[in-house]
Amino acid sequence: METGSSSTNERLHFGKMGYGCQHYRRRCKIRASCCNEVFWCRHCHNEASSTLKYPSDRHEIIRQDVKQVICSVCDTEQQVAQLCSNCGVNMGEYFCDICKFFDDDTEKEHFHCHECGICRVGGQANFFHCKKCGSCYSIALQGNHFCVENSMRHHCPICYEYLFDSLKDTTVMKCGHTMHCECYYEMIKRDRYCCPICSKSVMDMSRTWKRIDEEDYRYKKVHTAVLVHVEQPVAYIFRSGLLQLI
Ligand SMILES: [Zn+2]
Ligand SMILES: [Zn+2]
Ligand SMILES: [Zn+2]
Ligand SMILES: [Zn+2]
Ligand SMILES: [Zn+2]
Ligand SMILES: [Zn+2]
Ligand SMILES: [Zn+2]
Ligand SMILES: [Zn+2]
Repeated sequence: METGSSSTNERLHFGKMGYGCQHYRRRCKIRASCCNEVFWCRHCHNEASSTLKYPSDRHEIIRQDVKQVICSVCDTEQQVAQLCSNCGVNMGEYFCDICKFFDDDTEKEHFHCHECGICRVGGQANFFHCKKCGSCYSIALQGNHFCVENSMRHHCPICYEYLFDSLKDTTVMKCGHTMHCECYYEMIKRDRYCCPICSKSVMDMSRTWKRIDEEDYRYKKVHTAVLVHVEQPVAYIFRSGLLQLI
């Protein structure tokens, strides 16, 4: 009995972290229902599709529609499931039946948010779902941000990528609007300190000036530098911390 269960366990872990693409470690490929082609993951599909010659052929996969997977260990095509029906291997240490998502790298601490309807990474305990903003935010923002209806269900105002399931980090500005962290820093570098959506300052000037009043004369002398380098951006933007997943 004991040898039986340990060999089953060994089977489950066989090849773990040994397969996958640049996006995910997983032991299966997916068959895209849209074009009936096989890819490692939805990002691989979308990247390949975006380079197709004819724009009308380009499309994005609908993750929930994936029906078939191909085990990378034994090459058997089968219905979506966590364990391979042929060789018994675990095709993904983390598996979400809703998103049809597999990942062997559990250090990412995946979780499925039912309100977002997608899997995210970063540990369930570190996030709460803000109903008004329509997305999961870092718990540091709980009761501590300006809500904007469906704030994350928009494209980044700088690079136009859709933010809700972007793989890049997103920031929530003081006004409640959102954009990628890297786009935010790029904007600051170009001396633009206003939200591109609502034009409100991304810095809290009154607090900046108060700080200058309270602090010693050294700051008064260099108040321009204070404005640009001391108070922002760390104090007034919050990383939503969403390393968003699939
Ligand atoms: Zn397709
Ligand atoms: Zn991929
Ligand atoms: Zn298999
Ligand atoms: Zn999921
Ligand atoms: Zn959520
Ligand atoms: Zn909110
Ligand atoms: Zn962006
Ligand atoms: Zn704004």
